[in-house]
Amino acid sequence: MNPLPIPQPEDGKNVKSVRSKRNKNQKQNAALAARLAAMHGYICWYCGSDISNTAPLESHLDHIFPISAGGTNHDSNRALVCEVCDRAKWNMPLSDFLKWLHRPKKSIYTIPQS
Ligand SMILES: [Zn+2]
Repeated sequence: MNPLPIPQPEDGKNVKSVRSKRNKNQKQNAALAARLAAMHGYICWYCGSDISNTAPLESHLDHIFPISAGGTNHDSNRALVCEVCDRAKWNMPLSDFLKWLHRPKKSIYTIPQS
């Protein structure tokens, strides 16, 4: 019976290759975020809130149609979004998220009756 193969640590070349790919993606995302901000302004694509003070901007890139639902990484499927929308939407289909976003909201204040 053959012994199980002993897992080998990744060699330096592979680790470097993964790192350089990650850096390339970060640069591409930063460039895409800058392009989207130039086109649409520093506002959340879903709710319109100001995201000019969020950094890094590329951390707020969202897939409008989630990859898990057949969305792509194409620029036309990406949008700058605020943290609230980003966390709330996550993998939710766009139509469900928009229903949630525009749901009737209950006021915590009551209008005094005269
Ligand atoms: Zn938002």
